Amino acid sequence: MRFSYFKGMAKLPFNPGTQPCSSDEGEKMIPLFSAAAANAGLDLASVVQRVVDSNWYVLGSEVTAFEREFADYNGVNECVSLANGTDALELALRALGVSAGDKVACVANAGFYSSTAILAIGATPLYVDVDEASLNMSARSLSEALTRRPKAVIVTHLYGQLAEIEELAKLCHAAGAAVIEDCAQAHGAMRGPRRAGSIGDIGCFSFYPTKNLGALGDGGGIVCNDAKLAATVRTLRQYGWSTKYHVATPNGRNSRLDEMQAAVLREKLPKLDGWNSMRRDIATRYNAAFADLPLVLPPSTGEDYVAHLYVVRVESREDFRAHLRSHHVGTDVHYPLPDHRQTAYDLTSTTISLTQTERTCDLLVSLPCFPGLSAQEVDEVIRAVRSYFQR
Ligand SMILES: *Cc1c(COP(=O)(O)O)cnc(C)c1O
Repeated sequence: MRFSYFKGMAKLPFNPGTQPCSSDEGEKMIPLFSAAAANAGLDLASVVQRVVDSNWYVLGSEVTAFEREFADYNGVNECVSLANGTDALELALRALGVSAGDKVACVANAGFYSSTAILAIGATPLYVDVDEASLNMSARSLSEALTRRPKAVIVTHLYGQLAEIEELAKLCHAAGAAVIEDCAQAHGAMRGPRRAGSIGDIGCFSFYPTKNLGALGDGGGIVCNDAKLAATVRTLRQYGWSTKYHVATPNGRNSRLDEMQAAVLREKLPKLDGWNSMRRDIATRYNAAFADLPLVLPPSTGEDYVAHLYVVRVESREDFRAHLRSHHVGTDVHYPLPDHRQTAYDLTSTTISLTQTERTCDLLVSLPCFPGLSAQEVDEVIRAVRSYFQR
């Protein structure tokens, strides 16, 4: 069955990060992401059974082992697992000493996750524009934002493309601002010997099912080299306890990865590099096939891009998407509305000039790109895209 994985796809709930496409064409749609394809060949049932049989479900040996293995994978000393990626951002900010009234710089084109964490603390987001090619934080715009003295800066590696994090971190540290990397779309991305999350002061991850490393539910975590910082996050994830029932740190909460998710992530982690290169191979094929079309394509297919999302820019986006839908190709938009224009808040006064952010958000379209997408399906996506421009 060609699209047999679609059934697993349909079970995915609403996804805040990478929405599965909905299909009016039923079984034949090539989806934007497939959980069934991502988990194919893994015996996750016996992994879960192992935890059931252990009778230990929270903060046990699976979590300890996963934290060690994920820290090693990223080439850092510390990993603290958490309930989800948004908590990772918020607890990272709190551990770095950000509190109500502080400013935190971030981009406005990354799905409001940073803004959610910043606003939860009572801090104020200070939006920074993005670079035209990478759509990641612009160094020039950051320099301008740093004159407003943010306490911390969140750098998102959007779509799995590493930002110019070394240069951005240098600017931040010179201005006395802490650097948080949002690696929720960039597990495993590398520049030289260093992985996403190991370059700033702290790296934040989500293990939501659609991410490059995904659990069978929510999950998240931080990585860093600073043992004190990690210890603070460890305390904050469990009510602010120093020891059991003794609250020594304020603003704690319950944010723990559970044993089943940790065991699933341990099973999947050794496959991450292989899956990332499958994603990258698909992106490479798309980039070659679309090179002569009036599309703006992802700028890199090297190790610094793990192709979490394959996003192109196109004029008349909704026509393009309708054409693809009629050719049974699912698409989505990441993300249609920048953070400062979300209607729940009035955040427009906290921005500097966001020319690129504003200019690009109406052009973005994500195409199917995930491990398990067959060569034949990639061909079909390519044919559908090319036929749009041949009409
Ligand atoms: C998914 C995502 C998050 C949030 O992760 P959750 O686990 O859903 O809370 C944060 N930042 C980015 C860039 C993401 O893609």
